[in-house]
Amino acid sequence: MKAQLITSLGEIRPDGSPLELKEVPRSCPTNGQVRLKIIACGVCHTELDEIEGRTSPPELPVIPGHQVVGTIEKFGPGIDSALQKQLKNQPVGVGWIYSACGQCRFCQEGRENLCPDFTATGRDRDGGYAEYMLVPVNYAIPLPPDLDPVQASPLLCAGSIGYRSLMLALKPNRGNPKRRLDKNKPLYSDSSRSSNSNINRKNNSNNHCNNHCNTNGNKNSTNYNNNNNNNRNNKNPKTSSPGQQSKQNSTPNDNACSGIEHSNQQEEPFIPAGQQDKHPISNISSTTGTCQLNEIPPLETLGLTGFGASGHLVLQLVKAFHPSTRVYVFARRQSTRDFAFSLGADWAGPTSARAPEPCQSIIDTTPAWLPVREALANLAPGGRLVINAIRKEAGDKDALQDLNYARHLWLEKEIKSVANVTRQDIRGILNAASKINLQPTLTEYSLEEAGQALKDIKFSRGRGAKVLKISTNNK
Ligand SMILES: [Zn+2]
Ligand SMILES: [Zn+2]
Repeated sequence: MKAQLITSLGEIRPDGSPLELKEVPRSCPTNGQVRLKIIACGVCHTELDEIEGRTSPPELPVIPGHQVVGTIEKFGPGIDSALQKQLKNQPVGVGWIYSACGQCRFCQEGRENLCPDFTATGRDRDGGYAEYMLVPVNYAIPLPPDLDPVQASPLLCAGSIGYRSLMLALKPNRGNPKRRLDKNKPLYSDSSRSSNSNINRKNNSNNHCNNHCNTNGNKNSTNYNNNNNNNRNNKNPKTSSPGQQSKQNSTPNDNACSGIEHSNQQEEPFIPAGQQDKHPISNISSTTGTCQLNEIPPLETLGLTGFGASGHLVLQLVKAFHPSTRVYVFARRQSTRDFAFSLGADWAGPTSARAPEPCQSIIDTTPAWLPVREALANLAPGGRLVINAIRKEAGDKDALQDLNYARHLWLEKEIKSVANVTRQDIRGILNAASKINLQPTLTEYSLEEAGQALKDIKFSRGRGAKVLKISTNNK
């Protein structure tokens, strides 16, 4: 089969090396494994982190890729015939989680993402930059039938890690909203910000620019300030963006809470991974878990710093499930900010700008440090910064030298990183995507063009997600 392999570590070069396209033997599944015929594999910044040595594969060569959609075409031993019949040719997704031990404290608590024996698809085991791959049957998540396999592939990481980040962002220290007498009164009383924000939101309401843009805004920009609304007053709505369609076609928030903290809020019952893995071949039929987004009270304000593959999906999730939440996007490039407006952002500005009002939570999806410092300055008291990155690049680490305790950390601000994903995160995003007809904005590449796709991520070219289309969904 054809596969792209990481053959050595180092900065990715113009010819795409050290990624190399090679012909390699197709392996047979062992006990409890299945072999997938791969339809598509999303391309993620983490592959750059692997190639450039920030999260190195333990052995080389390795086939990268952890946003895999394929059909099960061969079963290993130990998988009973009824299950085989059920799953034969079933489109499934494989995310960053390739396996976890199922026995440790974290696995037992439903936090298999923190398992010390966690193995990652495409780093610790061969992944999806190939025509075929092996995976334990319990880690191949069946797709809801209405999801297009190519469109679904970015959901396996950009979507699932975005979903996990959003779930964490939804749980900052918000006090007890039941005690707030006037729910129409802003939570924060900075009058200049409040008045600005009202104006900005009004001006932004019809703004749907359709310029092309780049991903991962993360640097200072000098040609913008909070009062420069020229681009945001553009009355040229583009109604054909996926985000707009999904908003118009669905009302997933019908059962959502309206800002009231429910002390008896129940999370979806979780089957401990350990119990699943003690019977490793029998649980795949529990296909999709429920999306939990409509069970958690919405935030009033959410910031997104960086707006690439993950950020553009999170914005659409929030606008569909929690339409009352005001979403503020921080991005380095104007074209990226225009993209954010086109998907419904209430405001967008450069990384170092101040949002119209402080944010209860901010999700950082950049590989840089300046956005961390600036996001802390944009947080409300008691707010939470969720850092969604497996590693940060070192280029602007000096930005942390200017971290000021009073400005950036005081008043119970907190920082929480996101590590890996659980299968529940993957099921959650697939279920949410099906429910709201979430359609990632994506650029397709061939398997041969994987190096180009990675370079485009590195240099922030193109918008949304990048996907290798490897085969058609023919049985
Ligand atoms: Zn474990
Ligand atoms: Zn990823």
